[in-house]
Amino acid sequence: MKKVIMKFGGTSVGTGKNIRQVADIVSQYSKDYRITVVVSALAGVTNKLLEVAGQAQKSDETLIKNFTEELLQKHKEAISSAIVNKPLQQEVNGIVEKIIVELEKILTGICYVGELTPKSKDYVVSFGERLSAPIVCGAIQEDNIEARCFTGKDAGIVTDSNFGEANPLMNYTMHLVCEKLGAFLEKGGVPVVTGFIAANQDGVVTTVGRGGSDYTATILGVALEVDEVWIWTDVDGIMTTDPKLVPAAKLLPQLSYQEAAEMAIFGAKAMHPRALGPVSKANIPVRIRNSFQPEKTGTLITKEPVANVKQAVKAVAMIKDLAMLNVNGAAMVGAPGSYTKVFDVLGKNNINVMMISVAASEANISMMIKRSMLSRAISNIETALLEHGGLVSEVTAEDDVVVIAVIGAHMKGSLGLASKIFDIVAKKGINIRMIAQGSSELNISFVVKEKDGVEVVKAIHEEFDLDKT
Ligand code: ADP
Ligand code: ASP
Ligand code: MG
Repeated sequence: MKKVIMKFGGTSVGTGKNIRQVADIVSQYSKDYRITVVVSALAGVTNKLLEVAGQAQKSDETLIKNFTEELLQKHKEAISSAIVNKPLQQEVNGIVEKIIVELEKILTGICYVGELTPKSKDYVVSFGERLSAPIVCGAIQEDNIEARCFTGKDAGIVTDSNFGEANPLMNYTMHLVCEKLGAFLEKGGVPVVTGFIAANQDGVVTTVGRGGSDYTATILGVALEVDEVWIWTDVDGIMTTDPKLVPAAKLLPQLSYQEAAEMAIFGAKAMHPRALGPVSKANIPVRIRNSFQPEKTGTLITKEPVANVKQAVKAVAMIKDLAMLNVNGAAMVGAPGSYTKVFDVLGKNNINVMMISVAASEANISMMIKRSMLSRAISNIETALLEHGGLVSEVTAEDDVVVIAVIGAHMKGSLGLASKIFDIVAKKGINIRMIAQGSSELNISFVVKEKDGVEVVKAIHEEFDLDKT
């Protein structure tokens, strides 16, 4: 029998009704496949947990109580429409109640201590998946399938201690996952594993980054040596652009790992940016499929897609919630190591730079960073380099910008592409704030004002005939 991982994202398990659908998909395929299920938190729950964790520091017990009550109601409602069998319903209700009591204690603790560390934040945010998995597991059991719930930690996923963005220790994990899930799978069981969460070597809960259930799925896929990893979501697959922005977006039936990874990094939210790492090394195909229309085939991601279209531009993405940071200083010109000093300050403060552009005169570096990191970046650079070092004379920023990324493996060596892209933008009378092209030549990205973002995406999508692929 072929082995697959089936990962269901938050939107696929958003309500009890959707969870029922998920169970039916699993049950239908269980006749022909050995399945390991990976689940996300119910849609919106992770965001809410992060928000409440942030407030808990300055909060009071009443607010926490209200939140956990609401969360309990939401999950109880899901249980009652996903599971019909009364004793099973009660069993799952009991599990969920117990988990919520634990969450309440932790939030109260944070409220008393008045401190939220990256470690405790990961612990709080792990409750989303801890709550959804037992419900999905119960719904699958109702279809007379032997399913069992595992947290990422129970399943044997071990990471470093980089809380919030932890990295799997692959060799150790591969060994442990086989030990924990192998026998159960062999005898026909369906493990239901919480996505996103794992543990470090001391057993402390970690998370692998936002959207991390995709990553959990591919880590397990490699460890269990599956034939394919299927990522079920709320759209038909990876498309030429976000279908929520441009309804004319078309499905990309096949993509290479490299192209799909590029799209994931550049905000095609359809996947966690690092998720393709493990599977591309192991050469395990990934399918992105629509859980609301399971009859569709979706996008197939492999090393060398057979039916790969050779057109230069394949997709266009818009990345939001970013800011542009400009560091200026005549003293940086010709001074060896001056860039290193700037990046060192950012790195030490855990600020990731996703795009860089340097003026030939070397008097200016422009960088794109997460918008939420902007004030921290400015204050740290000013403190380290403006006041004491004198290397930097001015730090400015724009926080109302987006990155537009034009993506395709066959852009390499395609002459005149950049000028065509910039021409399209210029014709709209829109100003480009910054440009960058990676040496891989898989993408050209540039920065425009946020208010112009959607118009630019639409124009490029249309001019390159992406709506006609
Ligand atoms: P899930 O809950 O299944 O993990 P996500 O919200 O993480 O779902 O990702 C799916 C969403 O990604 C889609 O609903 C879509 O709006 C968005 N998206 C952005 N760009 C693309 C793209 N190029 N192709 C498909 N979906 C995209
Ligand atoms: N629930 C987590 C998030 O919202 C992980 C995931 O959905 O993949 O980021
Ligand atoms: Mg996701």
